[in-house]
Amino acid sequence: MLQIDRIELHEIVLPLVETFRMSSGTFRDRRVLLLHLVSSEGAEAWSECVASGLSIDASWRVLGERIAPRVLGRPFSDPGGIEAWLEREPDGRAAGGPAAAAVEMGAWELAAELSGTALATLLGGTVRRIPVGVSLGLQESPEALVDKVRGCLVQGYRRVKMKIQPGADVTNVRAVREALGPEAPLTVDANGAYTLDDLPTLRALDELGLLMIEQPFAGDDLASHAILQREIATPLCLDESIVSPERAEEALALGCARIINIKPGRVGGFRPSLAIHNLCLRHGVPVWCGGLLESGVGRAYNVALAALPNFTLPGDLSPSRRYWERDVVDPEWTMDSAGWMDVPVERPGLGVTVDAERVARLAVRREVLAVSRHR
Ligand code: MG
Repeated sequence: MLQIDRIELHEIVLPLVETFRMSSGTFRDRRVLLLHLVSSEGAEAWSECVASGLSIDASWRVLGERIAPRVLGRPFSDPGGIEAWLEREPDGRAAGGPAAAAVEMGAWELAAELSGTALATLLGGTVRRIPVGVSLGLQESPEALVDKVRGCLVQGYRRVKMKIQPGADVTNVRAVREALGPEAPLTVDANGAYTLDDLPTLRALDELGLLMIEQPFAGDDLASHAILQREIATPLCLDESIVSPERAEEALALGCARIINIKPGRVGGFRPSLAIHNLCLRHGVPVWCGGLLESGVGRAYNVALAALPNFTLPGDLSPSRRYWERDVVDPEWTMDSAGWMDVPVERPGLGVTVDAERVARLAVRREVLAVSRHR
């Protein structure tokens, strides 16, 4: 039995190494919401809510008002069972999105700590090192993009993803392909910025030898993805569309994509992530683990998940130094010169230690949700 008696919320502001531009905005630092969970037996776990910007405030509220009252002090048999206590949206997903996922994933970490197991092993992970890809924001010019991509390949990244948007797409990507040759492992991510009216652009991208085109259309627009996948040879990858195992099943049945990006914070945590992983494995669809500019805490959860056998494509699991002046975990996440990251399985839990003193120093807001207040 597992029981969470206390959840502390810590908001920190973590400076980014460089500004990150994508179709949804420009970021210089990042508000990060960390959770510290304490079980009835005294086990402790840090987890991260991957909400960003203003949705951090919404997640904070939902944790206090809708999640903690249902979860605190309630016993559940295994970490996946915590979902039974969570409020449901009409579509069946747990209410609270990334906030609910952060509690669910924290429960898995508590279980790992209590059983003395590495989190990756508890999830069923068998892989000991994972290939690392990188995601590049929009750049000022094709030349700047070529330089960035070249630099990433020199560092060893096994796949380089370029953000695109209408007006900053084919010319830039073609410049990279021509400069770096046909073998360079390139992908693009549109974050849903296109419609079927952009078919000529998407057809032009299809000629550029990309490993995949990620989420060209809006998340809820499965139909357009299915049409496009029939029109082009490049595999489509769904990201924003994949919000639950049910949606993943629908997308695969419609032929929307040949690759799936699983973000545990988006799908509601590890239980649904495992379900999507297993579904894709049955369909012969490879998966990879995307990132949401996590700190090293969120990264630990993604690395553990990416140790599962169907995570065969490089994930957006850049080392700490790519994003953060200094991470909040010890050791920081690192990648070797061939683009591999080790999965820490030698010690229980996350495999890294969260620097609680540094979290306290960086904190701009803190709240304790404890069992006594909710009984
Ligand atoms: Mg994406």
